[in-house]
Amino acid sequence: MDVEIPIQRLTDWGMFIKDKLFIAGPCSVESYEQLMKTAVALGEHKVNILRAGIWKPRSRPGSFEGVGRKGLEWLKNVSKVVKLPVAVEVAQPDHVEACLKQGIDVLWIGARTTSNPFSLQALADSLRGVDIPVMVKNPISPDIFLWLGAIERLHRAGIKKIAAIHRGFSSAETKLYRNKPEWRIPIELKRQIPDMPLICDPSHICGKKELLFSVSQEAMDLLYDGLMIEVHINPGQALSDREQQITPGEYGVLLKHLKQKKISNNSPDFQQNIKLLRQEIDEVDNHIIELLARRMAIVRKISVCKRKNDISLFQPDRWNEIVKSRIKAGKGKKLSEDFMFQVYQSIHEEAIRHQEEEEH
Ligand code: PEP
Ligand code: MN
Repeated sequence: MDVEIPIQRLTDWGMFIKDKLFIAGPCSVESYEQLMKTAVALGEHKVNILRAGIWKPRSRPGSFEGVGRKGLEWLKNVSKVVKLPVAVEVAQPDHVEACLKQGIDVLWIGARTTSNPFSLQALADSLRGVDIPVMVKNPISPDIFLWLGAIERLHRAGIKKIAAIHRGFSSAETKLYRNKPEWRIPIELKRQIPDMPLICDPSHICGKKELLFSVSQEAMDLLYDGLMIEVHINPGQALSDREQQITPGEYGVLLKHLKQKKISNNSPDFQQNIKLLRQEIDEVDNHIIELLARRMAIVRKISVCKRKNDISLFQPDRWNEIVKSRIKAGKGKKLSEDFMFQVYQSIHEEAIRHQEEEEH
């Protein structure tokens, strides 16, 4: 299942990036003044790349759709003043062409575009033979293959500097996040392509300012290579993504409080402690596997019983009772509702598979 994609590490990008990559800037370019003010204020904080969208097709037509090509010239001027490379979203080959002509430093591909292999291939073709960093946002749906496929298409077109941006996934559940993080997907992407920089975009995951810090910190704890954060000189007046943009000052505070973690520590004390705790975890995991196997063996007996009595495999009332009681039991032990539901959904699916196997 794993793919072999040799991709350049961040430190080989030649952009003086020492450790983490911090990308910040407005969701959209709205005016030369808005862009310049935001960039100058950002200059007081740690930023490696200035971001801004100039083509902004929204989910529904009619709202602000970006300033278009004239924004590229503004971006280049601002880039010279603040001495920062600039990144722009491209969705079509003519966007790529316009960005290359203006000397835009970095491109990124938006979530809607990554979702469409036709668009991705057209973009990859337009980038053939060009040495420019390209950052690929995750697709809208929680589908790692679309994300991997986009990266592969760019790689086959000769792009070597590729980063992945995790901006969360569309979901019917919009209570907490605008786009659900589903951390397991970017973690699996990084497992498959370890050298590829993985950047978190907490702005589009959260959809509101309040959650930005905790999601950014979680990304640091998961050893992400950087962050892309939407920053606007006056978020209250922003023409797109108003709720999630922060001021340059708020950006500075967020970065100041962020704790960066090391992957390891050579102290003998730490090494000894972690070894013992990991042994304990290994034992517990062995028990879990034993218990799951025991549970499935009982399920198989039940299946014989159901067959004899001509009763359906799936018993909605019993399933409903299990979901409710297990979530309740988990709550008392600090296990979240989401987690318990997912665990039992997987167990139930496996139980049905065992019963089907027993029947046929
Ligand atoms: C953006 O970065 O402003 C944007 C449109 O993001 P996404 O493609 O993640 O929706
Ligand atoms: Mn945005």
